[in-house]
Amino acid sequence: MTIIFLIRTFFTLIAFYVPLSQGAFEGLCTYGESTCAQNSYCIKYEQNKDVCMTKFHKELKLIQYPFVVHSFCDQGPLSPPENSHTWNNTAYEVDLKSTSDQNLDVLAGADDTVIAFDECEKENDQCGLGFGNQVKVLTEDNYIVFYAHLKNVKVKTGDVVKASTIIGTEGTTGWAGEKNKHLHLSFHYDWKSAGKDYWKAVGYLPTSVPYIIQDCKNLAYPVEDLKCKRVSNTPTIFCSNQ
Ligand SMILES: [Zn+2]
Repeated sequence: MTIIFLIRTFFTLIAFYVPLSQGAFEGLCTYGESTCAQNSYCIKYEQNKDVCMTKFHKELKLIQYPFVVHSFCDQGPLSPPENSHTWNNTAYEVDLKSTSDQNLDVLAGADDTVIAFDECEKENDQCGLGFGNQVKVLTEDNYIVFYAHLKNVKVKTGDVVKASTIIGTEGTTGWAGEKNKHLHLSFHYDWKSAGKDYWKAVGYLPTSVPYIIQDCKNLAYPVEDLKCKRVSNTPTIFCSNQ
């Protein structure tokens, strides 16, 4: 009886804490594993609480497209179907691959303050915790737009960028895969709760969340075809991870 009471109290408290208006709460899960139903995503809602939700509990933020040309969603040979880049899972981290032979500029997706890391020189190694050269744009409203595997970084920590500012070049640093030039793009929420030293406090980036890429309508593809399906490693034209 006591255990049942405790379990019921626990779920009552959870239900109270995550109102339905914030997206349907569908139970606990383990961040990084595919334990949620289809069309539901495991979100690290708090540091020690991962929940399956059908949508993020805040209005989705708009960001700028990171390249001046189209790119493809390509989770790459390093990404088996069940890893952290798949829809079944955390869902909000994607690898964008340009089809250009040139080194493409990467553009900031949002205004605000940058944390930059540019110490990686080789490709495909542990440098930068596997993310290689990277830029994080920390916004006032609590989001981080994260760009990784950059060949080089063109901003420095403390710089304030505008959307569309060139922040670096698409590359292969970190665990990108040999010759697998691409941009890892992810979107994270709630860095302020741990402060700018969240890396030390949390040990990793805060939870990744969905977002919408602005201006996709100006690209040549119809918007409805621009979703990253991420059900296989087949490159898919990318515009939004919604
Ligand atoms: Zn990636």
